[in-house]
Amino acid sequence: MLGSEAGGEMIRFDRVVKRFGDNVVLDELDFAVCPGERVTLIGPSGSGKTTILRLLMTLERVDGGTIHVGEECLTHVRRGERLVPADEKHLRKVRRRIGMVFQQFNLFPNMRVLRNVTEAPVHVLGQSAADAERRARELLDMVGLADKVDAFPTQLSGGQQQRVAIARALAMSPDVLLLDEITSALDPELAAEVLDVLRDLARTSDITMLCVTHAMKFARDVSHRVLMFDNGKIIEDKPPADLFERPEQERTRAFLRSVL
Ligand code: ADP
Repeated sequence: MLGSEAGGEMIRFDRVVKRFGDNVVLDELDFAVCPGERVTLIGPSGSGKTTILRLLMTLERVDGGTIHVGEECLTHVRRGERLVPADEKHLRKVRRRIGMVFQQFNLFPNMRVLRNVTEAPVHVLGQSAADAERRARELLDMVGLADKVDAFPTQLSGGQQQRVAIARALAMSPDVLLLDEITSALDPELAAEVLDVLRDLARTSDITMLCVTHAMKFARDVSHRVLMFDNGKIIEDKPPADLFERPEQERTRAFLRSVL
């Protein structure tokens, strides 16, 4: 399926297969996320959650099936009558629609905070330095770091670095924000600062979010839907109140007992 056949979803996986050697991590996985929806992926370690985010970031390639982001097919391009795997040029184009924040912040260590945020808008999107700086200052203000624009990453706490990483991802005006265990390297107090920023973002913007997290309270407060994964399959897909209060599957109950 390509382009206009993809319907109104912001993210769509159709029969996606991903293997690492003999390890079939995703086996014909289907799921979709609507524009503006905030969806959290939970489940035991090794169940394939991060692989889903990495496929969307095009850091991994599918072994079967298709992925769409909006109208755009991420995995394939049409050549005449045939669908062929997407080339690097196509991937660069679709990748711009997606922002990702990682567990380990990944800021540019040699750049001050402001430049960390303006670098990609200027060099990838071709924004003027003045426009990029104006927007970066707004975003850094939003994440509570207006006074840190001239700091280097090493001068910041982990929580502050992660908030810069969020501002940096948003500076590209992505349609989709992917969040991979973004608080798991942080002490609880610093994690709380980061989650507060995301709660604000959820309240004030209609960006589509796909999160992998073990922070169940955050999943409960912020998500529209929680998908419970086990062995690369979605075994429950529900609004958080239902999933946390009334899990149907024994596997989900056992997982929730282990993390709550
Ligand atoms: P989760 O995020 O749910 O913990 P992952 O998506 O990280 O799970 O991993 C799913 C499975 O894929 C695991 O068995 C993991 O060992 C395997 N895997 C992930 N990335 C790689 C890789 N680059 N090479 C080999 N195996 C991988």
